[in-house]
Amino acid sequence: MSDAICPKCHEKIEPFAMSLAFFPFYFKCNHCGVRLKLKSLTLLSSVLTTYLLVVVMMIWLLPAFRGYAVLTSVFVWLVLYNFIAHKMLSKNNLVVVE
Ligand SMILES: [Zn+2]
Repeated sequence: MSDAICPKCHEKIEPFAMSLAFFPFYFKCNHCGVRLKLKSLTLLSSVLTTYLLVVVMMIWLLPAFRGYAVLTSVFVWLVLYNFIAHKMLSKNNLVVVE
């Protein structure tokens, strides 16, 4: 079950829809096209900060990792993003931009 629900049309928001290309600063519901923004960026920014620290540490400490750094980082970020997106895009955390 997904928590990612549009506050206006109550349809499910696809975390990987193209309308989320400029996420989290500006995005649209992929059903009704309403402009939305996040109430709180706490979850996203804390996960992002931790993630970046880990990536930097790994590049620094593991020379063998450097060759795969970009690929691995992108892949891990997509997994992480998918994991937090449902919480982040929940109805309680979304506001309609008038
Ligand atoms: Zn909608």
